[in-house]
Amino acid sequence: MSMLGNYINGQAVASQSGRTAPVYNPATGAQRLQVALSSADETREAVRIAHEAFAAWAKVSPLKRSRILFRFKALVEAHADELARLIASEHGKVFSDAKGEVTRGLEVVEFACGIPHLQKGEHSMNVGTGVDSYSLMQPLGVCAGISPFNFPAMVPMWMFPIALACGNTFVMKPSEKDPSTPMRLAELLREAGLPDGVFNVVNGDKEAVDVLLTDERVQAVSFVGSTPIAEYIYATASSHGKRVQALGGAKNHMVIMPDADLDQAVGALMGAAYGSAGERCMAISVAVPVGEETAQRLREKLIGELAKLRVGPGLVDGPDNDMGPLITREHLEKVKGYIQAGVDEGAELVVDGREARIEGAGDGYFLGGSLFDHVKPGMRIHSEEIFGPVLAIARAVSFDEAVAMINAHEYGNGTAIFTRDGDAARQFVEQIQVGMVGVNVPIPVPMAFHSFGGWKRSLFGPLHMHGPDGVRFYTRMKTVTQRWPSGIREETNHFTMPTH
Ligand code: NAD
Repeated sequence: MSMLGNYINGQAVASQSGRTAPVYNPATGAQRLQVALSSADETREAVRIAHEAFAAWAKVSPLKRSRILFRFKALVEAHADELARLIASEHGKVFSDAKGEVTRGLEVVEFACGIPHLQKGEHSMNVGTGVDSYSLMQPLGVCAGISPFNFPAMVPMWMFPIALACGNTFVMKPSEKDPSTPMRLAELLREAGLPDGVFNVVNGDKEAVDVLLTDERVQAVSFVGSTPIAEYIYATASSHGKRVQALGGAKNHMVIMPDADLDQAVGALMGAAYGSAGERCMAISVAVPVGEETAQRLREKLIGELAKLRVGPGLVDGPDNDMGPLITREHLEKVKGYIQAGVDEGAELVVDGREARIEGAGDGYFLGGSLFDHVKPGMRIHSEEIFGPVLAIARAVSFDEAVAMINAHEYGNGTAIFTRDGDAARQFVEQIQVGMVGVNVPIPVPMAFHSFGGWKRSLFGPLHMHGPDGVRFYTRMKTVTQRWPSGIREETNHFTMPTH
């Protein structure tokens, strides 16, 4: 069984911790490899290397940093199929979806290539007589990233391209469930010309993470994962004086108004609910049809579409399946448990994914798509994140009831409204307490040059990820007020607050 270690100071390094975790192919249930669970000392060593590399990297001109990222972008494009196959064989998502993930990550690299412009700062001349003021956006030092299993390429690429472009060095701690893709990205960064030690990967679990949250040399922590862990990350790293952005879980609702184009809405909903087996933080897991007739028609159309849903392995000859397996056997059992909980709480299970016959399933962690109707706030399948192919219909009698249901939810990551009425859409955008909103767009993931982040218990910390917030997060502002000698010759001591 091959063993995946760490990537430190420009090379693969075996871990001596003696602790490992198995990495499976979720489509077959077979173990692919063992991944190291690094010790605290090994993690501290990665931080030391990144800390040492910082002074030289911070001095490299933004244009040169950007050129390395240009070369990295070209390499990721050239290796996109290889990366997508790696993602599909450890995460389970279908090949086309895995390629889409690589593309969404690449868009952040493209954004970061513009760093000479993004990091310029501001300048005002003559803020007082002979006095100028300008701001510098300087790098922080060592930054750390901790990522979830569901986007092993894209989420790390939300973080490190901007951090590196701004002149920081980085220690990445990927998910131990699908760690191979970030390791491959580290190799491609080196091939692109990134100096050794600037980007490092430490595989591991809580032991490694805790070092990144507490070591005084780490200046900033970016985290994406489940809400309880995000809360822990935020509390621990902030109390150790670090900048933190910790993105958590989600429960995303899609409102379908009576005037919506229902075929369009159902098409969008199928992809948003069941794509990637529902293992997306922006997946729609609750459909909120407004009015009895809308609900009835939506339900019928969804039943029809679910009968056509192609579930199976992510890597097949010929056209892709629509969705692959879940990440682990344990998670499969957890999702099945939620389906049972929904039945026990009195929701109507209209389509039971547990009964789906799945071709080529073997020992993989497959589950068909499930549909519940008459789901009500207060039921666990409404209040908790399931992270599986389970869609709930929660009926609302009015627009106001739909908005109130969403606003009362503890999560506020994404939401969408489908309607032909501009006024309803406008009211929705204004009133909804959610960070990312779609109007006739089911998964409103902002492009790389905008920022990504939820509200409420979906994000801890003031700044969202990538886009302008990403640049703010990975830089610290210094504002300089300067006056040159002739001014000093004219005036000497000042004991009062300068007012220019
Ligand atoms: P997770 O919280 O289990 O793990 C995320 C990371 O935290 C992993 O690297 C893991 O090793 C580490 N970790 C786990 N337990 C830890 C502990 N006790 N102490 C320190 N570190 C720990 O999440 P997951 O199952 O990998 O990913 C799915 C979750 O991520 C879902 O809740 C999903 O909504 C969320 N997610 C959110 C976004 C977003 O943008 N808000 C994006 C993707 C995924």
